[in-house]
Amino acid sequence: MTVLTHTRLTPPLAYYDGLYSFQQQVFDTCMEHADNAADAVTYNRAMELAALAIAIDLPASGSIAKCACGNCGCDAIFDPAAPGLREVEPSGPYNLPRYQCAACADSHPAPHED
Ligand SMILES: [Zn+2]
Ligand SMILES: [Zn+2]
Repeated sequence: MTVLTHTRLTPPLAYYDGLYSFQQQVFDTCMEHADNAADAVTYNRAMELAALAIAIDLPASGSIAKCACGNCGCDAIFDPAAPGLREVEPSGPYNLPRYQCAACADSHPAPHED
């Protein structure tokens, strides 16, 4: 028997709102460091610590990202290499590209779309 399913979305690695506040603080700090890192060693270390802080394994991509959806209070933390994401801000003064998680890319408009 064939079971029809919706497009399979990769579930988020974690939910920001589900973290303890000290985890959120460490995560935020690490993501900021990664964003401002001037070299790969600093970036990788910050990402490793961010993953450690929220008790997940760093994905093979070496990065994690928090949903940048401006349409909802989405708190999904995911692998930016996962399928189905929407790149919100590809360039700029940041190391970290901004992504909407797969669920938001599916059901919410891009934050800066005119
Ligand atoms: Zn989202
Ligand atoms: Zn959203």
